[in-house]
Amino acid sequence: MCLGCGRARTDIYMAHRGAMVSIASAAGEFSLPTPTGESDSLSTELSSLKLDFFNVFKGATPRKPTCLYFTQGCCTMMDQSDHLDTHTHGFLELNTKSFDLSKVQPQDFDYFLVLDLEGNIEILEFPVLLIDAKTLELVDFFHRFVRPRKLRKERLDQNVEQHFGKFGINSIWHETAILFKDVIPQFEDWLAKHNVLTKELGGHLNKAAFVTCGNWDIKTKIPDQCRVSRMELPPYFMEWINLKDIYLNFYGWRGRSMLAMMGQLQMPLVGNHHLGIDDATNITRILQRLIVDGSVLRITARRNSDKKVEFLFENRIW
Ligand SMILES: [Zn+2]
Repeated sequence: MCLGCGRARTDIYMAHRGAMVSIASAAGEFSLPTPTGESDSLSTELSSLKLDFFNVFKGATPRKPTCLYFTQGCCTMMDQSDHLDTHTHGFLELNTKSFDLSKVQPQDFDYFLVLDLEGNIEILEFPVLLIDAKTLELVDFFHRFVRPRKLRKERLDQNVEQHFGKFGINSIWHETAILFKDVIPQFEDWLAKHNVLTKELGGHLNKAAFVTCGNWDIKTKIPDQCRVSRMELPPYFMEWINLKDIYLNFYGWRGRSMLAMMGQLQMPLVGNHHLGIDDATNITRILQRLIVDGSVLRITARRNSDKKVEFLFENRIW
């Protein structure tokens, strides 16, 4: 029961849509800005982690939704104050000002590219945050919704509804999504603009590394999507850092998911869980925390010339 309003626990989410809910766990209490009605999947996920909705509702100020036209470089309403009043056009959650950098170790890379794909049949969302390895600041972001090549309309609509309906952003997805084969050249232009991808290195990254939560994104999904889209796998997707392995080897804790790691670190989740751009933001916050605590991030997996993936850490999450 919610002590704030007396509603049954499972109703708290729906009742306080757009506001903040607190969650208690063995690791402590953390606040969760509510998504729009994803209570069932999130509460199942939380209970599987032995985290539970806390009985107290905190009436924090509602969080403005991120303008997802802006993140994809196509907001046409920046001159309208009512739009700017209602939508965020930045990443407020990645403020590094309060960080104590005294334990930060030199890293092997100048930049990290935090990637978190969404989509099970084909990729539906491709968000990447570019993070400075020294200052831990967000340098820039790349975000595109991705239109599947093969899915028939009915199946596509179902898939988009399943992924994004709970966030109320289906129409934005339908208006903005582009094919993966068109996303990749735009992504490469963006990488080149930041000098992270240079021709001299034969399409490999320049002192930068991808960071993902798990191996699925780069080991499995990118090559699958390249096959479906009839493209060669770009050479920069040959190695990556699986944050779960870094986390395990640094803290000695098994964080099997982003939520599990955040629960153990007592970090509040920001944004909508399973919206890729928000998950990439939360993964970045775990990465920042690891570095602030003194961790050195190293490549954890590499695709060899025979295309087999080699895992470089003995102690890793299976
Ligand atoms: Zn906007």
